[in-house]
Amino acid sequence: MAENNSWWQENSPCQHKFIHFDTIKSTESSIYQIGWKRVDRFYCEKCLDYKDKVQKEWSRDKPEWY
Ligand SMILES: [Zn+2]
Repeated sequence: MAENNSWWQENSPCQHKFIHFDTIKSTESSIYQIGWKRVDRFYCEKCLDYKDKVQKEWSRDKPEWY
């Protein structure tokens, strides 16, 4: 039965309803600047598909979105 588990995803187009799941923040440093990286992960509560929204910026100051 396991090989048939994906039939419902392929045969029923999902009207994705993405909800926010997690936010992962990280930074890396160079001599002059800081690399601010924020990943917001969303998943669809209907089909459990997920997508990541990635924002990254090199700046000395913390960006507004971080
Ligand atoms: Zn979906």
